[in-house]
Amino acid sequence: MAKLRSVRLADTDDLRARVHFCEDTGQIWLHEHRMLLVHAEAQASLRKELIDSLGMDRARGLLTRMGYASGVRDAELARTRAQSASDVEAFMTGPQLHTLEGIVRVTPIRLELDRVKGKFYGEFLWENSWEGQSHRRYFGIHAEPVCWTQIGYACGYTSAFMGRPILYKEVECSGAGHDNCRIVGKPVEEWEDASDMRFLNPESIADQLFDLQTQVVQLRSSIGEKEKLPVDMIGNSPGFRTAYELLRQAAGNRISVLLLGETGVGKELFARTLHDMGPRRARPFVAVNCAAIPHELVESELFGVEKGAYTGALVSRPGRFERADGGTLFLDEIGDLPLSAQSKLLRVLQDGELERLGDQKTRKTDVRLIAAANRDLRQLVKEGKFRSDLYYRLNAYQIDIPPLRERKEDISFLAKRFLEKFSAIHGKRLRGFTDKAKRALLTYGWPGNIRELQNMVERGVILAQSGTRIEVDQLFSSCADNRAREFGLNVNGELAMERWDAGQALCESVFNGVMTLDQLEAMLVETAVNKAHGNLSSAARMLGLTRPQLAYRLKSLHESELREES
Ligand SMILES: [Zn+2]
Repeated sequence: MAKLRSVRLADTDDLRARVHFCEDTGQIWLHEHRMLLVHAEAQASLRKELIDSLGMDRARGLLTRMGYASGVRDAELARTRAQSASDVEAFMTGPQLHTLEGIVRVTPIRLELDRVKGKFYGEFLWENSWEGQSHRRYFGIHAEPVCWTQIGYACGYTSAFMGRPILYKEVECSGAGHDNCRIVGKPVEEWEDASDMRFLNPESIADQLFDLQTQVVQLRSSIGEKEKLPVDMIGNSPGFRTAYELLRQAAGNRISVLLLGETGVGKELFARTLHDMGPRRARPFVAVNCAAIPHELVESELFGVEKGAYTGALVSRPGRFERADGGTLFLDEIGDLPLSAQSKLLRVLQDGELERLGDQKTRKTDVRLIAAANRDLRQLVKEGKFRSDLYYRLNAYQIDIPPLRERKEDISFLAKRFLEKFSAIHGKRLRGFTDKAKRALLTYGWPGNIRELQNMVERGVILAQSGTRIEVDQLFSSCADNRAREFGLNVNGELAMERWDAGQALCESVFNGVMTLDQLEAMLVETAVNKAHGNLSSAARMLGLTRPQLAYRLKSLHESELREES
């Protein structure tokens, strides 16, 4: 292994000769890189401001990576020198440039390297460290070494020169009270504690802000639910607006309201909104689904029961009417109410009085009734299954809630609101729906109405990768596919075949030796990075990788390129 025996910093003349001041163009060149001659004091105050606004840790990361980037550039120059000099001499370019650039005076203490075998050990003395001095001036003596940009430079320079990750640490630092700084560098895996490597991974502050924003949305939706209209009580279609206007007008008084609509159109939501908009909003809202209670229990559920009224009535308890006293009672699927219960209900509506089962006492009750049905109640009246007097009493104020297929102009808007809601709940960042998915949402018939749309969007949010758009097959489950096809869509078949064919072609090119698996991977990674305009976080999302996983892949691809070159 090549060793540096004598300390030498001579022969920098050719380096100096590569510095060109072009007054004509206002540029300074070092080899082929544009350089800046900046005021150390201005740089120091920028460094201070970074620390003040981002905190020590985050500023350290930024500065380390900044140094790393400049080290990598200087290594390019060193590699051109390596063609005409020994490895050690070529390597010394970096320390010489670091000195020439006015950052720190570098003297090697021990340097052993073998580029072919990838062996490296380096120990250097740093005198007049610009960073150590400026840190000390602004922040006093620090408990730990502080020459972050410079350490980043050493890591970037040596890693690029060696073609493998080399980590440096400061074992002494002028910013931490020593006379000078001293640094040691060796391959990452030879360090027992290589946790400093984390400073080389950029953390996207934009991503963190996005996460915080998502949290805010989440918190707001849990805090503000009662004050704001629910997501699905919004729409612009004529049908919805008519229904909503009727609802608003009924809110101020206590007239009984009948809500009519297909399953899933949001009848309970309408009922709750009506309650919340009116003067009873601070009183109870009690919802009962008449179809869900066995007929023999409906009366005791609604009107209450006295102890001993029937076998099994061991204690007296109030019914839903009494519990809703002063507030609103919502009776869903009222068409399922047995006839005997219907007459009791009529009496409560007429006189505001009720008796518990097995009780002689008459109780006064003050309840606003909202009923809902998805059947043709009039038909039930004709068949003698629903009392006509109760029907006429209820339909005095009837609101028809339109099915979603008649609210086309609301679909995109509702889908978007559900997307926001479920993205917040599931902690996903999605970019919306693909064009094909949007078209499917508009063409589909929505037999399950808003409830179906809501479930479908939630399914899409769960299945889609963060950073992507929801695709049509992530929305429609296989049983809905058939329904979607009825609306002229070929949801899965066509897409699946396209994918399969494309995949087959790729496999063939690997089998035929047209390209290697590594090249395929490199191509994928490169394409993703290009598509994401160099934003690694979004490139990683496109590939379904985490950012560190992508960074690792990029690094190993870069390293194998370096190895091929040398
Ligand atoms: Zn230092």
